[in-house]
Formats: sequence, structure tokens, C-alpha cells
Amino acid sequence: MAATIQPGDLVALAGDDGRRVLVRAEGSAQKVRGLGILSPEKLAGLAWGATMEHGSGAWRLHKPGIADITAGLDRKAQIVLPKDASRILYECDVRAGARVVEAGIGSGALTSALAWAVAPTGRVSTYEIRADFAEHARRNLTLAGLAELVDIQVADVCAGIAERDVDAVVLDMPNPWDALDAAKKALRGDGHFCAYSPLVSQVERVRSALAERGFVDVRTLELIERAWTVHEQGSRPSHEMLGHTAFLTFARNSVET
Ligand code: SAH
Repeated sequence: MAATIQPGDLVALAGDDGRRVLVRAEGSAQKVRGLGILSPEKLAGLAWGATMEHGSGAWRLHKPGIADITAGLDRKAQIVLPKDASRILYECDVRAGARVVEAGIGSGALTSALAWAVAPTGRVSTYEIRADFAEHARRNLTLAGLAELVDIQVADVCAGIAERDVDAVVLDMPNPWDALDAAKKALRGDGHFCAYSPLVSQVERVRSALAERGFVDVRTLELIERAWTVHEQGSRPSHEMLGHTAFLTFARNSVET
């Protein structure tokens, strides 16, 4: 027999057009963003992988992975997209048990990916200057079941990072160079650093600040992703393409010998 959704499970409702809505299978009729009125408790007992007719569409019921969580997130600030988030996890070796510091939280998209990767024993500490973003992101993380892995500080990361000996510091903020002294103090001797920067001028500035502080293995890259439209009559790259997100600058800390 197919496994069924249990009361309280997080469910990704997947539309054919790529839409994702995250819902917990609990609670009576309510307005759900992207779905209209739904009784989430009615999802309990349905099979994972089944299709549910709702409104004018058909939705498949999926156990959410990190891709569904990111796609279903309620966004406020510009989020770090999967092409960049996945590379950050890879380059910074973010894995189960790792301790990661991040700024700022924005809508919590990158935070979710970091928390997903460090679970169940690691920790993400995130610094965010805006209390409203911190609150919004906390709601997203709670819905996704990731909030327990994340410490949110409403503070300017440039003023200092309390953590020590962390495995990675990841900065998505306009002036990462101003947070580098704090980042260096927080990192373990050979810890990983990443700055996510939309502008070349930011890359130049963060790179010279990294060099001044003895960071090594400094490298900058840009990822270009092209979706394809696939039909029986023929396949081609889709007309719309994500033009630019940001440059990723990676480095490792070093200590004096
Ligand atoms: N990575 C996030 C998006 C971050 S947007 C995501 O994937 O959803 C950049 C965030 O950095 C904003 O929320 C902004 O308020 C915050 N920020 C900017 N300067 C900061 C600073 N000095 N310290 C902490 N947070 C900062």
C-alpha cells in the first residue's frame, strides 16, 4: 500500500507549471497563498505522489525536498536561487554537523539550504539588520520545519560575530568587506568564506579586502543556467533565460605560522 500523509506533515503541492505551495497537513478551512481556500487537514490520509484536484488545477502531493522548499517560499527580498545556493553548499563543504554563519537572512532561502545541509546536528547562525525580514524568514523556516537548526540575531554582522571556530561564513549583503574582520575572527583556521555579490565593483572590493587579511584560494565565478523546452516536435533552449543573479567569491581562511 502506498505511504500516506500523516497529520502535521509538510506537503509540497506541485503544479504542472512548476509551481510549488507548501502546506502542513493540519488545520481547518483557511486561505493558503497560491491556492485560495483549502482545509489542510484533509491532506492527511492521502497518498504521497497522489494528485489532488483543487480550484482549476491538479496538484501532486510531494514530500518536500530543499528544491520544493525554496520554490514554495514566501519571498520578500531577492533570494539566492538554487544554481547559486547549491554551489555554495558544495564549495563551502556545508554538510551534516557543520556550523555556519550567514548574513543577511532576507526571506530565508539560502538559510533554508544551509539548514537542510547541516541537519540534524549542525547549526546555522544568521545575522540580519532588519527585524521585519528576520520575522518573515522565521515564519518561512518554521513552516519548512527548519527553524530549530537556525539562530537568528537581529544585528549588524559588521559589528561582530559571536560564534568562534565556525566552518563557513556566507555573506549575502551589499558591503561584505565591512564584515571581514568579524568573519575572520569567527572562522576556524582553514574555514570557508563566500560572498554573494550582484555587482563587479563589489567583487573587486571584497577581493582586495580578502587579500589584505590573508585569505587564500580566492576565486570568483558566475553560474549560467539555461532551461530547455522539450517537445516531441523538437527541443530548444527556452526563450526566457535568467540573465544574471550574482558573482560568487569563495576563499579560505589561513593562520600565521
Ligand atoms: N540570502 C537571502 C537574501 C538576502 S537579501 C535569501 O536567500 O533569501 C540581503 C539581506 O541582508 C537583507 O535582508 C538585508 O536587510 C540584510 N543586510 C544588509 N546589510 C546587513 C548587515 N550589515 N548585517 C546583517 N544583515 C544585513
